[in-house]
Amino acid sequence: MTHLRFRHEIVDSIPETLQSNTLYVTADRDVAGHLCACGCGREVITPLSPTDWSVSFGRQGASLSPSIGNWAFPCRSHYFIRGGAVVWAHNMSDKAIAHGRRLDKARKQNYYDKLGGVPPAHPELTPPVASHTLLDKLFGLCKRLLTW
Ligand SMILES: [Zn+2]
Repeated sequence: MTHLRFRHEIVDSIPETLQSNTLYVTADRDVAGHLCACGCGREVITPLSPTDWSVSFGRQGASLSPSIGNWAFPCRSHYFIRGGAVVWAHNMSDKAIAHGRRLDKARKQNYYDKLGGVPPAHPELTPPVASHTLLDKLFGLCKRLLTW
Protein backbone atom coordinates (compact mmCIF):
# COMPACT_ATOMS: atom_id res chain seq x y z
CA MET A 1 0.00 0.00 0.00
CA THR A 2 1.14 3.51 -0.65
CA HIS A 3 2.38 5.53 2.24
CA LEU A 4 -0.32 8.08 2.73
CA ARG A 5 -0.31 11.07 4.99
CA PHE A 6 -3.11 13.23 6.27
CA ARG A 7 -2.73 16.86 7.15
CA HIS A 8 -5.30 18.31 9.52
CA GLU A 9 -7.37 21.40 9.40
CA ILE A 10 -9.40 23.00 12.18
CA VAL A 11 -12.71 24.24 10.84
CA ASP A 12 -15.88 25.81 12.22
CA SER A 13 -17.89 23.06 10.57
CA ILE A 14 -17.07 20.21 8.22
CA PRO A 15 -16.97 21.72 4.69
CA GLU A 16 -19.32 20.40 2.02
CA THR A 17 -16.47 19.46 -0.25
CA LEU A 18 -13.61 17.68 1.42
CA GLN A 19 -10.08 17.64 0.10
CA SER A 20 -8.35 14.29 0.00
CA ASN A 21 -5.66 13.53 2.57
CA THR A 22 -7.10 16.11 4.93
CA LEU A 23 -8.57 15.43 8.33
CA TYR A 24 -11.05 18.14 9.21
CA VAL A 25 -11.71 18.66 12.90
CA THR A 26 -14.25 21.15 14.17
CA ALA A 27 -12.96 23.84 16.51
CA ASP A 28 -15.22 22.61 19.31
CA ARG A 29 -13.92 19.08 18.72
CA ASP A 30 -17.29 17.43 18.27
CA VAL A 31 -16.84 15.94 14.83
CA ALA A 32 -14.11 15.07 12.35
CA GLY A 33 -14.38 14.36 8.66
CA HIS A 34 -12.13 13.06 5.92
CA LEU A 35 -12.27 11.28 2.59
CA CYS A 36 -11.71 7.54 2.72
CA ALA A 37 -7.98 6.88 2.67
CA CYS A 38 -8.31 4.33 -0.15
CA GLY A 39 -9.07 7.14 -2.55
CA CYS A 40 -12.64 6.03 -3.32
CA GLY A 41 -13.77 9.56 -2.53
CA ARG A 42 -16.38 8.69 0.06
CA GLU A 43 -16.79 10.96 3.05
CA VAL A 44 -16.09 9.55 6.47
CA ILE A 45 -17.69 11.59 9.22
CA THR A 46 -16.69 10.55 12.71
CA PRO A 47 -18.39 11.95 15.80
CA LEU A 48 -15.91 12.82 18.54
CA SER A 49 -16.99 11.88 22.05
CA PRO A 50 -15.81 9.65 24.90
CA THR A 51 -17.74 6.76 23.34
CA ASP A 52 -16.97 7.49 19.70
CA TRP A 53 -13.72 8.65 18.17
CA SER A 54 -11.08 10.89 19.59
CA VAL A 55 -8.51 13.03 17.87
CA SER A 56 -5.15 13.98 19.25
CA PHE A 57 -2.49 16.18 17.72
CA GLY A 58 1.14 15.26 17.93
CA ARG A 59 4.30 16.61 16.38
CA GLN A 60 3.92 14.26 13.42
CA GLY A 61 0.29 15.07 12.84
CA ALA A 62 -3.18 14.11 13.93
CA SER A 63 -4.21 10.71 15.25
CA LEU A 64 -7.73 9.39 15.14
CA SER A 65 -8.75 6.49 17.30
CA PRO A 66 -10.08 3.91 17.25
CA SER A 67 -9.56 2.70 13.70
CA ILE A 68 -11.72 3.69 10.77
CA GLY A 69 -13.67 0.75 9.37
CA ASN A 70 -15.59 1.73 6.27
CA TRP A 71 -17.65 -1.46 6.12
CA ALA A 72 -20.58 0.35 4.58
CA PHE A 73 -18.49 1.39 1.57
CA PRO A 74 -17.74 -0.90 -1.37
CA CYS A 75 -14.00 -0.54 -0.61
CA ARG A 76 -14.46 -1.80 2.98
CA SER A 77 -11.26 0.00 3.94
CA HIS A 78 -9.94 -0.43 7.43
CA TYR A 79 -7.13 1.79 8.64
CA PHE A 80 -5.75 3.88 11.44
CA ILE A 81 -4.63 7.48 11.24
CA ARG A 82 -1.61 7.72 13.48
CA GLY A 83 0.53 10.83 13.64
CA GLY A 84 -0.86 11.95 10.31
CA ALA A 85 0.02 8.66 8.61
CA VAL A 86 -2.41 6.06 7.35
CA VAL A 87 -1.76 2.65 8.80
CA TRP A 88 -3.68 -0.04 6.96
CA ALA A 89 -5.37 -2.68 9.02
CA HIS A 90 -6.53 -6.11 8.02
CA ASN A 91 -9.90 -6.59 6.49
CA MET A 92 -12.37 -7.82 9.02
CA SER A 93 -14.87 -10.55 8.41
CA ASP A 94 -18.57 -9.82 8.76
CA LYS A 95 -18.56 -11.89 11.91
CA ALA A 96 -15.76 -9.85 13.42
CA ILE A 97 -17.55 -6.64 12.47
CA ALA A 98 -20.76 -7.81 14.13
CA HIS A 99 -18.76 -8.75 17.21
CA GLY A 100 -17.14 -5.32 17.24
CA ARG A 101 -20.51 -3.63 17.00
CA ARG A 102 -21.83 -5.64 19.93
CA LEU A 103 -18.77 -4.73 21.98
CA ASP A 104 -19.24 -1.09 21.08
CA LYS A 105 -22.88 -1.20 22.16
CA ALA A 106 -21.93 -2.81 25.47
CA ARG A 107 -19.15 -0.26 25.96
CA LYS A 108 -21.56 2.61 25.42
CA GLN A 109 -24.11 1.09 27.79
CA ASN A 110 -21.40 0.64 30.37
CA TYR A 111 -20.30 4.24 29.94
CA TYR A 112 -23.79 5.59 30.51
CA ASP A 113 -24.36 3.22 33.42
CA LYS A 114 -21.25 4.62 35.08
CA LEU A 115 -22.53 8.13 34.58
CA GLY A 116 -25.66 7.03 36.41
CA GLY A 117 -27.68 8.42 33.59
CA VAL A 118 -29.68 6.88 30.85
CA PRO A 119 -28.47 6.67 27.28
CA PRO A 120 -30.17 8.97 24.80
CA ALA A 121 -33.61 7.62 24.06
CA HIS A 122 -33.69 5.12 21.26
CA PRO A 123 -37.20 4.81 19.87
CA GLU A 124 -36.66 1.11 19.22
CA LEU A 125 -35.65 0.50 22.84
CA THR A 126 -38.31 2.53 24.58
CA PRO A 127 -41.69 1.94 23.00
CA PRO A 128 -44.01 4.76 23.94
CA VAL A 129 -46.56 3.86 26.59
CA ALA A 130 -49.35 4.90 24.28
CA SER A 131 -48.66 2.08 21.85
CA HIS A 132 -48.77 -0.36 24.72
CA THR A 133 -52.21 0.72 25.84
CA LEU A 134 -53.29 0.73 22.22
CA LEU A 135 -52.18 -2.89 21.96
CA ASP A 136 -54.13 -3.72 25.10
CA LYS A 137 -57.17 -2.06 23.62
CA LEU A 138 -56.81 -4.01 20.39
CA PHE A 139 -56.32 -7.19 22.35
CA GLY A 140 -59.43 -6.47 24.37
CA LEU A 141 -61.34 -5.77 21.18
CA CYS A 142 -60.23 -9.08 19.69
CA LYS A 143 -61.29 -10.91 22.82
CA ARG A 144 -64.69 -9.23 22.66
CA LEU A 145 -65.06 -10.19 19.02
CA LEU A 146 -64.11 -13.77 19.78
CA THR A 147 -66.49 -14.15 22.70
CA TRP A 148 -69.30 -12.27 21.00
ZN1 LIG B 1 -12.59 3.80 0.26
